[in-house]
Amino acid sequence: MSEHSEIELKTAALRGLMGRCPCCGKGKLMRSYLKPVENCAACGESFGQIRADDAAPWATIILVGHVFLPLAFMVDLDWMPTWGAVALWSVCFAALSLAILPRAKSMFVAILWQTRAPGYKPVELVDPV
Ligand SMILES: [Zn+2]
Repeated sequence: MSEHSEIELKTAALRGLMGRCPCCGKGKLMRSYLKPVENCAACGESFGQIRADDAAPWATIILVGHVFLPLAFMVDLDWMPTWGAVALWSVCFAALSLAILPRAKSMFVAILWQTRAPGYKPVELVDPV
């Protein structure tokens, strides 16, 4: 297992963006679409306790809604009926969002791992009586 300080933030973020373990770069970081692995299969580093919360959806909304959506207004689709353009852009932006979201999630998990921010751990409720 490598020390956190040996891996630069940029390297960890890029490995996370590629869906790889930020520690070794070999094992998979995600076990399903949005769920990180408990431990890396290659190096054993633990990721199960890291919670990225709303960071990935937030980044996806910023990218799709504020970067790619304005580009859509630059494309001339006057030759196409309005319902066709709406359907086309809806499919494009849905696909773009679905493609960005898991990459953003794994990148934020990698960043949280590198910065040693374990993320939110729920507080157990205690009966006051
Ligand atoms: Zn690893």
